[in-house]
Amino acid sequence: MIYEPVIGLEIHAELKTKTKMFCSSKNDSDEKHPNVNICPICMGHPGTLPVINKEAVNRVIKVGLALTCKIAELTKWDRKNYFYPDLPKGYQISQYDKPICIGGKLKIPGSDKEIRITRVHLEEDTGRLIHFGHIGHSLVDFNRAGVPLMELVTEPDLNSGEEASAFSEELRLILRYLGVSDANMEKGQMRVEANISLKLVNAKELGTKVEVKNLNSFKAVRDAIDYEITRQTEILLNGKKVLQETRGFNETEGETFSQRKKEQSHDYRYFPEPDLPPLKINADLVEKLRSSLPELPNEKRFRFKNQYSLSEGQ
Ligand code: ADP
Ligand code: MG
Repeated sequence: MIYEPVIGLEIHAELKTKTKMFCSSKNDSDEKHPNVNICPICMGHPGTLPVINKEAVNRVIKVGLALTCKIAELTKWDRKNYFYPDLPKGYQISQYDKPICIGGKLKIPGSDKEIRITRVHLEEDTGRLIHFGHIGHSLVDFNRAGVPLMELVTEPDLNSGEEASAFSEELRLILRYLGVSDANMEKGQMRVEANISLKLVNAKELGTKVEVKNLNSFKAVRDAIDYEITRQTEILLNGKKVLQETRGFNETEGETFSQRKKEQSHDYRYFPEPDLPPLKINADLVEKLRSSLPELPNEKRFRFKNQYSLSEGQ
């Protein structure tokens, strides 16, 4: 039996704005002192109200335009509820059913393949836990809590670790060309989650997927996916079933490991954010942002090829 890998990516990138997503605390990923860029709003104190960071919305629109997405005329915010020590409010403001950007595509350089983009939405980042395993303590730094975070979701159009890594690298380049994010993976400014399943080559229906979280380098993206493809192939060839779950990736061992049963969207009790009105996106603003786009990597490659008779890769 011949199995074909099917992969969809969820990529988060911190946006490089002056202030956080819903308050005026500084957004500074280089800040070394913990818990200095915080305020009652991003700490979720009772009685505080969020205010939308317009520049963050503009940046996500630019990303959407660069990926030929449709920009929503009306977008809205939703609460995603869960408990974790790095989430001071007990919920994350995200976008559930009305993301800013819908549809779109990205061509993998050096290949004819175009990957369909499902959506790009805006949410807020969490704080950061720092673990001191040897003394059995963890400390929490909230400087990152509330930093604007875009999330891009692809359709399951990728078929190998190599392709997924090339896609992620091209997206990083676009984010940098647009100046919307430094997208430095070592600093955690860009984080990739890979959904991986196998199906029989001619089968229409997709197989059970495993989600591998927090891939922090292109090599990790490629290696984790390749490892999962091998692991799942062995399970299926042995006549067993792949378990739907969330897995982590150990870079040193080059192996993925089981973390938890996959949560479903109803586990989060999404509901419309009562403290923020839906947002109308004006067509004039979209056109203004469109005309501000720089020449994008793919356009530049095309121009160089024609102008200097270069071949792909030169
Ligand atoms: P969930 O609700 O579990 O988060 P989604 O439908 O939102 O799942 O998809 C999340 C990501 O997983 C997307 O990138 C999508 O393309 C990908 N995906 C969905 N089904 C599969 C599958 N069977 N195999 C691989 N990737 C998949
Ligand atoms: Mg999802």
